[in-house]
Amino acid sequence: MEKYGAYSEVGKLRKVIVHRPGLEMRRLTPTNCVELLFDDVIWPRLAALVPAFEALRVRSAWAGYYEMNAFDHNGLAGALPGWDNVYTACGFSGHGMQQAPAVGSALAAVIARGASSAPPLDALSPRRLLEGRPLRENNVI
Ligand SMILES: Cc1cc2nc3c(=O)[nH]c(=O)nc-3n(C[C@H](O)[C@H](O)[C@H](O)COP(=O)(O)OP(=O)(O)OC[C@H]3O[C@@H](n4cnc5c(N)ncnc54)[C@H](O)[C@@H]3O)c2cc1C
Repeated sequence: MEKYGAYSEVGKLRKVIVHRPGLEMRRLTPTNCVELLFDDVIWPRLAALVPAFEALRVRSAWAGYYEMNAFDHNGLAGALPGWDNVYTACGFSGHGMQQAPAVGSALAAVIARGASSAPPLDALSPRRLLEGRPLRENNVI
């Protein structure tokens, strides 16, 4: 079953406004979603809750996917078990930017040597999923 969630990057999440999808969702496209979601869905509800929010306007916004490894919230980097020519570097769960240069460099070395792993990547090997050995990251946003 797929898992969805709402998380805060700036401290404890206290309140989430939830919307039951209706026909309006059929009109959404990547280019109009910011305007439509705010004007048609979020804004009326905010204004009903707090009349002062009637004055709110969207200045800019961005939306995108957040890759998440629900097993232990850590990257999966190295050879894919059961395959001799498939490698992975994914599942970084919101902290892959800081790891990408080292992971990319180590993985390139592994691929060039045809090895299944290298010491810097051992801890992140996808083998841990098969072995049920999580490398749990607790500081997940
Ligand atoms: C909102 C947000 C905030 C984040 N904040 C942080 C942070 O504060 N600190 C931190 O360390 N990390 C953060 N991250 C996580 C970090 O950005 C990712 O973990 C990291 O970018 C993963 O790097 P990657 O190279 O594995 O994948 P990506 O950066 O996703 O790169 C994959 C690339 O492959 C391309 N691609 C996909 N499919 C194909 C295809 N079929 N053919 C060709 N190209 C394809 C994509 O266009 C993309 O350029 C954040 C992520 C998000 C979304």
